[in-house]
Amino acid sequence: MQSELLKKFGNKLQKNKDISAYFTMHFRVKADYYIEVKTLDEWKKTVKTAHDLKLPIVILGGGSNIAVTKERINALVIRNRYIHSKKVSETKTHVEMLYSSGYPIGRIVKETTEKGLSGFEYHLGLPGTIGGAMYMNSKWTKPESYCGDTLVYAYIMTRDGKIRKEKKSYFKFAYDYSILQETKEIFLEGVYRFKKEKPEILKKRSQEALAYRKQTQPFGVATCGCFFQNISFDDQKKLNLPSSSVGYLIDKSGLKGKKIGAFEISTKHANFIINHGSGKPEDLERLLDIIRDSIRTKYRIELKEEVVIV
Ligand SMILES: Cc1cc2nc3c(=O)[nH]c(=O)nc-3n(C[C@H](O)[C@H](O)[C@H](O)COP(=O)(O)OP(=O)(O)OC[C@H]3O[C@@H](n4cnc5c(N)ncnc54)[C@H](O)[C@@H]3O)c2cc1C
Repeated sequence: MQSELLKKFGNKLQKNKDISAYFTMHFRVKADYYIEVKTLDEWKKTVKTAHDLKLPIVILGGGSNIAVTKERINALVIRNRYIHSKKVSETKTHVEMLYSSGYPIGRIVKETTEKGLSGFEYHLGLPGTIGGAMYMNSKWTKPESYCGDTLVYAYIMTRDGKIRKEKKSYFKFAYDYSILQETKEIFLEGVYRFKKEKPEILKKRSQEALAYRKQTQPFGVATCGCFFQNISFDDQKKLNLPSSSVGYLIDKSGLKGKKIGAFEISTKHANFIINHGSGKPEDLERLLDIIRDSIRTKYRIELKEEVVIV
């Protein structure tokens, strides 16, 4: 296996690689094999080779929505550094832009608001790549705005390396959901439709969203954002709760500030777990079990992770 991989990728392939730095929560973890892909051709070659060698792959965008609960990933970890964009079309009122999947969300927000293109302005402060945001259909809630909203069509690749073009409807975007979570297809490039608006208006919107984020969430710490999905409207009604926010439920269970090892439930937003530096996988597992058990006992609700557990 190793000699086949080295033959194909040479020194681009790294073995036994410490990949902690590529997760916003800085999990201490190594990958059996690691590679960065920067072009479409590299994507095709890497995925096809892994498929032919029956080597499992793990795709990493910005690593901001993944929780690692082991010390080693027995797979080829592919970090997406495929970053390019181009204008596809323009009318009097709209512009369509293509972004490759490794494009950082923060850069899209900055570039489009400056150019007066509305669609992503509420996502200022959302870490990660557009590929990860399509897999998760990442969102902002004030006002409700999903990263999948502006997608027109996209190019995706199956795990055996075949590329297809699909319209937005294919992705079945919903709360924390896209079809990619089931098909495991790889999001390569997307074309997004932006409405022309005054840059001052868009900048104001994005600054307001960022200010709200800073006010309500821990900032500048090692975390992977909200850990669990909010509860359904039906459950909220059934339990007569003032909020569907899981942060609210964890707070009401008295768990804010609870610490196991280096992992702590944020005192600012109880659905955020912070890694204070040297968090061990088993400590994270224990803290998660405490949260799940408390919510199950107090509210009879089974929490569902928003983050992807690897
Ligand atoms: C401080 C902080 C704040 C956050 N705020 C929000 C928020 O407001 N709203 C929100 O929804 N989320 C939020 N998140 C979570 C996260 O940032 C988003 O979901 C983000 O869009 C994930 O992108 P990523 O590139 O980091 O994905 P990753 O974490 O790298 O990957 C997430 C999943 O997507 C898969 N994936 C990644 N790229 C591709 C691809 N090209 N094709 C197929 N699959 C792929 C991965 O394999 C993994 O399963 C926050 C996280 C942090 C740390």
